[in-house]
Amino acid sequence: MSVLEIKKFNDPVLRKKAKLVHAINAETKKLIVDMIETLYASNGVGLAANQVGRLQSIIVFDVSENRANPMVLVNPVVLEKKGRLFEEEGCLSFPGINVKVRRARYLKIKGLDYRFKPVTIETEGLCSRVLQHETDHLEGKVFIDRLPLIKRIKLLKKIRKIKPV
Ligand code: ZN
Repeated sequence: MSVLEIKKFNDPVLRKKAKLVHAINAETKKLIVDMIETLYASNGVGLAANQVGRLQSIIVFDVSENRANPMVLVNPVVLEKKGRLFEEEGCLSFPGINVKVRRARYLKIKGLDYRFKPVTIETEGLCSRVLQHETDHLEGKVFIDRLPLIKRIKLLKKIRKIKPV
């Protein structure tokens, strides 16, 4: 197992769409294990493959309190969103940035687990928010894209100060 480098701020890979995974082979399994290791090493709740520079439709997450329940979702597809949630979010690719983002409260999402078996997850609250954040990553979107324009511009200025373009 190894901890992977997390791509940050304006890295172009964060702006690219991940590709569908067609089979779970040894390489995919290693990537999943390494992503989980990276998630825990960074104290994150969710991580998308784009964030470690791999354009494969894979997310890992753990919203449990004891941090011992890693979950994997391959090729996730959002089926349904309902209600509203407006809570503070951070991102391992944007360290030091925490902003309130509008999300759906309820989420129904399908995908495949680490054995390539179909799974459907229905969730609300934190888990719902994390999955919406991570599926955005797979689409090449980041959480600040969800902010109103003025807020986004202010934040981009701040980000430029943290890391010059
Ligand atoms: Zn993120």
